[in-house]
Amino acid sequence: MTQDMHVEAVEALVIGAGPAGLMAAEELGRAGVQVIVAEAMPSPARKFLMAGKSGLNLTKNEDMGVFLNQFTPCPPALEAALNAFGPTEVSSWTDSLGQPVFTGSTGRVFPKTMKASPLLRAWIARLDGYGVALRRRWRLVGLDAGGAIFETPDGERRIQAKATVLAMGGASWARLGSNGAWATSMPPARIAPFEPANSALSLSWSPHMTRHFGGAVKGVSLCCGLYRSRGEFIISKRGLEGGGVYSVSRGVREGYELYIDLLPDMPLDIVKSTLKRRKAKETVANFLRKSLRLTPEKIALVMEFSRPLPSDLAPVLKGLKITGATLRPMDEAISTAGGLRFDGLSATLELAYMPNVFACGEMLDWEAPTGGYLLTACLATGKLAGQAASDVVRASQGE
Ligand SMILES: Cc1cc2nc3c(=O)[nH]c(=O)nc-3n(C[C@H](O)[C@H](O)[C@H](O)COP(=O)(O)OP(=O)(O)OC[C@H]3O[C@@H](n4cnc5c(N)ncnc54)[C@H](O)[C@@H]3O)c2cc1C
Repeated sequence: MTQDMHVEAVEALVIGAGPAGLMAAEELGRAGVQVIVAEAMPSPARKFLMAGKSGLNLTKNEDMGVFLNQFTPCPPALEAALNAFGPTEVSSWTDSLGQPVFTGSTGRVFPKTMKASPLLRAWIARLDGYGVALRRRWRLVGLDAGGAIFETPDGERRIQAKATVLAMGGASWARLGSNGAWATSMPPARIAPFEPANSALSLSWSPHMTRHFGGAVKGVSLCCGLYRSRGEFIISKRGLEGGGVYSVSRGVREGYELYIDLLPDMPLDIVKSTLKRRKAKETVANFLRKSLRLTPEKIALVMEFSRPLPSDLAPVLKGLKITGATLRPMDEAISTAGGLRFDGLSATLELAYMPNVFACGEMLDWEAPTGGYLLTACLATGKLAGQAASDVVRASQGE
């Protein structure tokens, strides 16, 4: 530390103003604790706002057992956080900020506005009301027993807090703030390496696919190792993107082959018997379009991945093997696996090697598919870390 570094004392410090950090700040503020939130970017919650561009899928309305099963593995501290603040609580909390939610046909829950900005505005106003101070362009560059050191527009600053909550996110979409740089300052044994999660897939297409770029493939089911999804995706210049492939991308990362059932509602024997009706003079493509109602995009995929066509096309249509798919670069992934290992955290998300420092959100080593699971886990762990940090501050006042 330079001798003349400005030092400030505060009851609680939250580092990172994404959904996890803001929820921790809300808990602290509600408990009457004096809080500073330090954010590296010029404005808070940029990834949250980006999530709003696709409607802001906040949570999933489903049986809690099914919900928890999406987190594999689901360490006890995460499970406790989700049980305390799960889908029902996320919906009520959103409603309490003047943003009622609705549940879509697949159980996904969204704010009725389908946007993040009105919710964020109301949330920041609530935090203002609690007296939470937001420091923008404050980037954490060091953390030790003497406090947290930040690079700020006014030079280096140190904050000494009774309790600190780390909420610096994962390692994708670095331009929105979460670059994963915090991990390099942690003991390596405490960190599981970052990996892309909910990733698009790269493929090298043959020229005939060019005219299908931007085309949607709907109503299919995908299977890759242990991971399955039902839904849709887009054929892009670079490969396959969209919800349907994100959910199974973990299988690709784990080295499994990807298969697509192009006719998930039609049993194999019906597909077989339908195919037998094709007359010799009718082209396969025409028959697939007319009799099995395959779209041009689906037919193009069949031609791309199963040429030369086998005499029995039914198994291909029920399980088209997508060869050569790899994950897109990590920075493009919706989320990242890896981060602070749970075996180095207490049941209240306190770092084992740094007392009174807690962590939450995508910084932690958990993984789940898209569908609202990510934001729910960030909010739930933010709440748990914020409550625990507030207990530390309260205990220190009683000393
Ligand atoms: C395109 C896209 C769409 C998505 N859609 C959904 C969706 O619909 N539903 C869903 O559940 N999830 C969605 N997600 C995922 C979700 O947005 C993230 O999981 C969530 O934002 C993570 O929250 P967090 O608070 O842990 O981290 P982040 O939101 O990444 O926030 C971390 C904050 O910490 C700050 N920070 C980082 N380093 C420092 C430092 N050294 N000093 C100070 N501050 C620092 C960052 O600037 C950032 O503001 C989407 C993600 C993307 C990219």
